[in-house]
Amino acid sequence: MPGKLEDIGEFGTIGRIARSVFTSPAMALDFQDDAALWQWGGGWLIATTDALVEDVDFRLCTFSWEDIGWKALAVNLSDIAAMGGSPRGALVALCLPAESEVAQVDAFYRGMSLLAEQARTPILGGDLSSSAHVMVNVTVFGEVESGERVLRRSVAQVGDQIGVTGVLGNAAAGLALLEGNAIVGGSTRERFIAAQRRPAPRLREGRALVAAGVRCGMDISDGLVVDLQKLCAASGVSAEIACADVPTDPDLAAVLGDDCSRQALNGGEDYELLFTAPPATMRRAQDRLTRLGLATCTVVGRIVAGSGGEVVLRGDHGEALLPTGKGFDHFDAAAVPRKGRE
Ligand SMILES: [Mg+2]
Repeated sequence: MPGKLEDIGEFGTIGRIARSVFTSPAMALDFQDDAALWQWGGGWLIATTDALVEDVDFRLCTFSWEDIGWKALAVNLSDIAAMGGSPRGALVALCLPAESEVAQVDAFYRGMSLLAEQARTPILGGDLSSSAHVMVNVTVFGEVESGERVLRRSVAQVGDQIGVTGVLGNAAAGLALLEGNAIVGGSTRERFIAAQRRPAPRLREGRALVAAGVRCGMDISDGLVVDLQKLCAASGVSAEIACADVPTDPDLAAVLGDDCSRQALNGGEDYELLFTAPPATMRRAQDRLTRLGLATCTVVGRIVAGSGGEVVLRGDHGEALLPTGKGFDHFDAAAVPRKGRE
């Protein structure tokens, strides 16, 4: 008899669903990727759906309704970016208590529309329902150029370098500030809190990586190490990370102190891109991102042989370090039910 969700975790549960639901044999869906990818007519479509739940993904006392609207769309657009795709439209289901203010719904859609306009993703429709807690579910549809010109998790090769866009740990620092677990003021505080409340999906970066020849990638939603483990497991390889090379904001240590490197490795919700490519392709990708004025791209490690999806952390002298935490799993009984705590 199957046990509880917390026994098999979020990803064990996804595996069961993937084995049980109907899909057309012609669709060749891969439930491991950030978005579903399938051929339709002459083109290749992608679609993703993601929910934000009050007191799991945000608190009403630390997020404005504009923030919730922005973030609910942003996390979905990030999954489109993670495939190297272009968003074409979104559907929004909003569940909230009947005693909510009309102005709150207005503010929610104001925040969402701001990002929708920036990302040229029209809100096509949706649903409203009453609920004791606020819950938002967004579905985004998009396109990729072809079934080959796309980022997938399952195609990393031994010898590939591992790259990430931007800096890591900022969203975790923002959460620490919002929860009162860290203190810093001024524009630094605002920068980290914005990373937590209003992440910027790396859509242009995802497309630039594909154009540069990168084929393996995903977004970092649950933490660098745990997301790299997923990529490695999907590809049947392992990986090494040089901890000193993981890019961080110069002020991260001022916010998180000794917890800085642990959060750069394990903090969730940065929504940067994680990808692998042979060194020559990686250089091309770095050049392209620089030329287009997009996010920086930093090499943080390499793909090595090993089928278990193992990620080894290396210190300054190449020594193997003990893991210092883990990323986020929605059904992990040991996890604090709040993203980014780790
Ligand atoms: Mg994702």
